[in-house]
Amino acid sequence: MFKALVVDKSEEGVVSSEIKELENSSLPTEGNVTVAVEYSTLNYKDGLCITGNGGLVRNYPHIPGIDFAGTVEQSDDTRYKAGDKVVLTGWRVGEAWWGGYAQKARVKADWLVPLPDGLSTKQAMAVGTAGFTAMLAVMALEDHGLKPDQGEVLVTGAAGGVGSVATSILANLGYGVAGVTGRPDTADYLKELGASRIVAREELNETVKRPLESETWAGCIDAVGGAMLARVLGQMKYGASVSAVGLAGGAALPATVIPFLLRGVNLLGIDSVMQPFENRQRAWQRVVSDLPMGKLEKMVQHATLNDLPDLGAAILKGAVQGRVVVDVNG
Ligand code: NDP
Repeated sequence: MFKALVVDKSEEGVVSSEIKELENSSLPTEGNVTVAVEYSTLNYKDGLCITGNGGLVRNYPHIPGIDFAGTVEQSDDTRYKAGDKVVLTGWRVGEAWWGGYAQKARVKADWLVPLPDGLSTKQAMAVGTAGFTAMLAVMALEDHGLKPDQGEVLVTGAAGGVGSVATSILANLGYGVAGVTGRPDTADYLKELGASRIVAREELNETVKRPLESETWAGCIDAVGGAMLARVLGQMKYGASVSAVGLAGGAALPATVIPFLLRGVNLLGIDSVMQPFENRQRAWQRVVSDLPMGKLEKMVQHATLNDLPDLGAAILKGAVQGRVVVDVNG
């Protein structure tokens, strides 16, 4: 038997969640590796899956949790054996497949990454999908030529999960980081993570008629999308890049193509879900080398499966600060 947070939908369409004891035999048969999950975490998508929003979960009953870290219990794949430490993000686990809000998960070996040396399973989930994606976003900016001496890098949704990790990594790499937040009370927290400047959300979430404003940012990691991303595009320096990660502020992009045509601005799409294995390994290695673990500690709050229904609703309101680590055995 194992414990899990199970989300179900009534005939009337009401989605609810409950902690249940399940038989090992109920684990999905498509997988070929069984993992004793130690930690999972809370991401924006988890909020959607726990509350039944966004249409991500099609089949109920369902176990959410888009990422987890733990120890291989049994494997039918030669790449993994019992006792190996592993981490999983993406591949629609926790959405289309049962996920990490459980003490056991059965998944495909192709989806796993060996836990990198220098990271515990708890630290890996303090990073989680949000932090892993922040790392991918930094790597994309670097691949497009960003260097610390080019000027300030803007991070939107800075006090959230992606934003907190992006701020810490960029500051550690020597970048000046301007963090955009709608929560002024997070200013000290963001400065502790390394932000050199705080920008109020209201300054950037209004659309303006002018497609180009002063060239301000050497790069941007954007977790917000919507009107804010449109506005930021017009403030990028000549040839600079924006890593588009999220849509916490909306999926529409009310922009013009002028920043692309007159300033050679690049809009880089960042997807963490289908990343090839080699790039996943590269990103996790970079997390170990470039994210100071002391700063990671500062952004973490701890939770158990019982806390997830409330936390799932809170993250959708933009009310969760930093990262949440879920101890599934707690
Ligand atoms: P969080 O909720 O932790 O962070 C989002 C932050 O965005 C909030 O903390 C808030 O920051 C800001 N925000 C929220 N609502 C608004 C709004 N209406 N207008 C402007 N800013 C807002 O979520 P995550 O960091 O986990 O994820 C951020 C986004 O990235 C999500 O859209 C998520 O789906 C996406 N994502 C995409 C991935 C990919 O593969 N592309 C992977 C992981 C996440 P503040 O309080 O500082 O203003």
